[in-house]
Amino acid sequence: MTRNLNLALLAACSAVFSPLALAQVSGPIVVQGAMPVEAERFAQRLDNPREEQIGGWRFWRGTVDGYPVVVSETLKGMSNAAAATAIAATQFHPVAIINQGTAGGHDPALKVYDIVLGKYSVSLGAFKTPKKAAGEGSDSRQWQPMDLLASKGSAGEDKNAHTIRQFPADAKLLAIAESVKGSYTQGKVVEGVIGSADVWNSELDRIGYFHENYHTSVEEMETASAAQIAASFNIPFVGIRVLSNNITNQGKYDPQTGLACQDYVYQVVKTYIAKNASR
Ligand code: SAH
Repeated sequence: MTRNLNLALLAACSAVFSPLALAQVSGPIVVQGAMPVEAERFAQRLDNPREEQIGGWRFWRGTVDGYPVVVSETLKGMSNAAAATAIAATQFHPVAIINQGTAGGHDPALKVYDIVLGKYSVSLGAFKTPKKAAGEGSDSRQWQPMDLLASKGSAGEDKNAHTIRQFPADAKLLAIAESVKGSYTQGKVVEGVIGSADVWNSELDRIGYFHENYHTSVEEMETASAAQIAASFNIPFVGIRVLSNNITNQGKYDPQTGLACQDYVYQVVKTYIAKNASR
């Protein structure tokens, strides 16, 4: 009874007041970027931004078109991305998390400045190696994926744990990310697979192996980790990555691509807000 009354009050409030009132009820959109060049541009585009430091991480709270948006500088790597995502989840209760930034190409058909909308992401850092005796060397192409979420017991011993875990994008977020494709002029925009690990791979055979076996379009160091944590909080998630380098086709590293990615994601966020928040 009391609960129904509260719900009715809530509904009345959001009907009478601006989209902002509705927004405060439903939580912000969180946009994540690892490095300053991947986060600060978006933070500067927020209206009424307020910087907040939580532990080692910077967050900027502001609005876009009157709807609350939090920009999160996750810092680089899987651990940082996981921690920043857990903090965002518990502090801000977001309706959506977009992890975005730069990445290295695994697909020779993709050029620097092309953008990959991650239909899912995978960890390129969780494997079990075959046994080899001293002197037999190491070949990472023989390693089996190890799904650390598949089993409460030993993932290494559990046969079911030897397929690669896919962290899927939220279908609605992916569709919105697709819908602004036409606005991007600096390259093409494709759906693909994002591979993440605390590793920068520059061995073409290893990259080719990942591309063939796990269908990775790009690699970077955060998306699969943020996606895993977002999923454990049931927060809709999508990864959006621009190629800043691609050694499979001599694409030279260009950090300015990080700015292009934020501009693309800004359009995604505006479209999300227009479709979902200000009705
Ligand atoms: N060249 C940069 C390296 C940044 S470290 C520098 O010297 O500062 C890697 C960061 O860039 C991570 O946050 C990762 O997500 C992203 N990244 C871009 N291209 C990558 C690649 N080919 N492999 C791994 N990470 C990549």
